[in-house]
Amino acid sequence: MATKFDVIVIGAGPAGYHAAIRSAQLGLNTAIVEKWLGKEGKPAYGGTCLNVGCIPSKALLEASHKYVDTRDHLGDMGIEVKGVKVDIPAVIARKDQVVSNLTSGVAGLLKSNGVTTFEGTAKLHAGREVAFTAHDGSTENLVADNVIVATGSVPVEIPPCPLTDELIVDSTGALDFLTAPKRLGVIGAGIIGLELGSVWSRFGSEVVLLEALEDFLPPADKQVAREAAKQFKKQGMDIRLGTRVTGTDIKGKQVTVTYTDSEGDKSEQFDKVIVAVGRRPYTEELLAADSGVTMDERGFIYVNETCLTDAPGVYAVGDVVRGPMLAHKGMEEGIMVAERIAGQMPLVNYDLVPSVVYTHPEIAWVGMTEQEVKAAGDEYEVGTFPMAASGRAMANNDTVGLVKVIADKATDRILGVHIIGNQASEMIAEAVIAMEFESSAEDLGLTMFAHPTLSEGLHEAALAVSGHAIHIANRKRKK
Ligand code: FAD
Ligand code: AMP
Repeated sequence: MATKFDVIVIGAGPAGYHAAIRSAQLGLNTAIVEKWLGKEGKPAYGGTCLNVGCIPSKALLEASHKYVDTRDHLGDMGIEVKGVKVDIPAVIARKDQVVSNLTSGVAGLLKSNGVTTFEGTAKLHAGREVAFTAHDGSTENLVADNVIVATGSVPVEIPPCPLTDELIVDSTGALDFLTAPKRLGVIGAGIIGLELGSVWSRFGSEVVLLEALEDFLPPADKQVAREAAKQFKKQGMDIRLGTRVTGTDIKGKQVTVTYTDSEGDKSEQFDKVIVAVGRRPYTEELLAADSGVTMDERGFIYVNETCLTDAPGVYAVGDVVRGPMLAHKGMEEGIMVAERIAGQMPLVNYDLVPSVVYTHPEIAWVGMTEQEVKAAGDEYEVGTFPMAASGRAMANNDTVGLVKVIADKATDRILGVHIIGNQASEMIAEAVIAMEFESSAEDLGLTMFAHPTLSEGLHEAALAVSGHAIHIANRKRKK
């Protein structure tokens, strides 16, 4: 006899645990199955995001930023600090503590919401039957009216760069170096490559990023991407575009990476290499042949706009389905599915998923880039505000960056907001809210922002759309 639930969630990453907690809040008898084993081999909740993704990377980014800021920039403000040192094992231990606090916090939330937890692996069969195998090998059959698959993603491995225990690692390995490698190669200059490259560059590594594409940060607005490339170069990161890695060879403790660029075949030697060439959906041993769930050609579980798969009553959310591989996108999908199961009718607005690169300066955007608006053939106006003109940025001793607002020429409706600068990750939320409410640039301009704040940069950029910004010389002067 199978144990029966209203909802079974497979995977307790951000998408899955949001789905489970919301289901339980809505009065549904909910179970969640999670197979992750943390560093000490103990079951851990929170998936990639909490264990080896968003949170540990941000813990290292913050620590390394504070280190560089203290060492190099506090002097600008009249604060003398001598002998600044970093103890990398202590940095890693603090990061692990943050992770463990949060993963046990999620376990506590599941428990306090009355979600039944199963620690081990789930396999989905026809009729929403789930075969559960615990870590000790014992098995149990579960069944539910609704199943939510949230099995996430794993790093892509490429044949030229087979991973090793120590020298060639993926993003997970790069969160645990106990010393900064002297020369560090990063393959892939996407968001993860840039964040991890920044961490180790700040801790003293000479970082070279090898990126196959000719364009830098293609999903970002080109003006912002250009500014970002300039800042990263200033920080000493060597970003080589149009550089396709073709092989690796290990001799002793050195890795030779071979690559091809416009000049032909080349090679470089590194003490360690991080492979950060993207992530792929994870469905290994998840689906029995009769599950009824189908995949697309790239291995993502096929779902419609409400995250329903081809199998009745089976949903899939998060990195394992189409759309940006971002924690917050999965969280909203998880909540949407739980509420739809409970009879409500929410939808996820996929047009307004904010993206953030947590480097310094931070880069954040929502909506369309200028190149996308142009390609769509729409007429538009742009307002930009340089953070160098912000009083708060000057007071903070951090004036790099700009805010850019793109609005439809005829309706003034905001089409996209692009920010590079300190706190861009926080400021972008204001733009998301405005755009969710279909704000015009004028609406944002008519809104009062506290002074002095970095957010005033968004206010000024919105005013600049119609030439009304106060703190910059306006190109367009309109009444
Ligand atoms: P996951 O978090 O991957 O969770 C899936 C869970 O399912 C896992 O715990 C897995 O063990 C479990 N599972 C899989 N198969 C089974 C099975 N058969 N039975 C039981 N359990 C199973 N995103 C952001 O939004 N912001 C960031 O700053 C950010 N930084 C990142 C930094 C790094 C270094 C990395 C690697 C990723 C980062 N991401 C970030 C991406 C983010 O981590 C993912 O988008 C997010 O974790 C996806 O959530 P998910 O719930 O879909 O899947
Ligand atoms: P993302 O998908 O944003 O995580 O970024 C991964 C990046 O890795 C992409 O920009 C890819 O172009 C890049 N990439 C993939 N394969 C290679 C390779 N063999 N050499 C260099 N860069 C690569």
